[in-house]
Amino acid sequence: LHGIDDERFRYSMEELAALVATANGEVVAELTQKREAPHPATYIGKGKTEELAALVKQLTPDLVIFNSELSPSQARNLTNMLGEVKVIDRTQLILDIFARRARSKEGKLQVELAQLEYLLPRLGGQGAALSRLGGGIGTRGPGETKLETDRRHIRRRIDDIKAELRRIAEHRERYRGRRQKNHAFQVALVGYTNAGKSTIFNRLTAADSFEENLLFATLDPLTRQCVLPCGYTVLVTDTVGFIQDLPTTLVAAFRSTLEEVTEADLLLHIVDSSHPDYAEHERTVLQLVAELGASSIPMVTVYNKRDRQAPEFIPTTTEALVMSALSAADIERLRAFLEEAIKRQMVLYHASIP
Ligand code: GDP
Repeated sequence: LHGIDDERFRYSMEELAALVATANGEVVAELTQKREAPHPATYIGKGKTEELAALVKQLTPDLVIFNSELSPSQARNLTNMLGEVKVIDRTQLILDIFARRARSKEGKLQVELAQLEYLLPRLGGQGAALSRLGGGIGTRGPGETKLETDRRHIRRRIDDIKAELRRIAEHRERYRGRRQKNHAFQVALVGYTNAGKSTIFNRLTAADSFEENLLFATLDPLTRQCVLPCGYTVLVTDTVGFIQDLPTTLVAAFRSTLEEVTEADLLLHIVDSSHPDYAEHERTVLQLVAELGASSIPMVTVYNKRDRQAPEFIPTTTEALVMSALSAADIERLRAFLEEAIKRQMVLYHASIP
């Protein structure tokens, strides 16, 4: 990683380790290097690459993960230099996690598309290795042909997925239009991944969807009804968990899903207040909400997991509720809190009509 301070660096490495755990992996060694700029051919320097090769020989890990995005040629060069071990970057790791977590057809297709588009320019690592070993002899043999066939196959699949996604998006548009026509009040849950969104969503809407103590348990937006204490029904949407340094390719891939956020009348920002880096998470979410063009939507904050938070915890936002999703009484407090926020907004809305 480059151009960031030591604290951000440490934080990012810890997050990478958490992502590895989420993908059911185990970290056996960590290697870091301070450099002015990435090495164009191998990302890390020559000496570091040799050190890494020795470590790979000694520990025989299944994977080497770079906490950054590698260019196709860097990935190829590293694969060739490190031997049998598979080399991936942060984006590929996140894609792998997304692939495990996707629930809806759209989510699954979006992940597959992002994976294939990422893979396409990176194909051919083996081809390069073959031509090097063969000294130029037979480099246009079956290996090369297979590579071309693979590429063609992947391109065709990419086209098919895009067409399918367009169909799904059109369908969703119609559904969205119907929802707007019915004037349903829409609340979108946003928050850093693992903050407790799914848990709160399920408790609020009394539904049983996937909830797990892992990053990215939520990948697809889900919308369900929630009844407020006054009897008024609102629609609550659960959204994809945000994460720092979400690769731009992924933001693009999930744009249509994330767009649900921009349609909401109110954002309910869930923060895991027991996490030591919660303030950093909060900032990341606000930044991503702004990037989506949704900062004008009113937002209220929920500091969740109060059962585990530090005794000296003080909320940074005033319009906030401190609660625990595991407490039934707190879920009722949240319902009342939500009702208050919605009422306030409706009053403001009507006041603005001449
Ligand atoms: P999401 O990624 O934001 O959807 O997070 P989840 O709803 O999947 O929750 C992540 C983990 O935190 C799960 O293991 C939940 O059981 C746990 N969790 C959620 N809310 C609370 C809470 O208030 N207190 C505690 N101790 N754990 C919670």
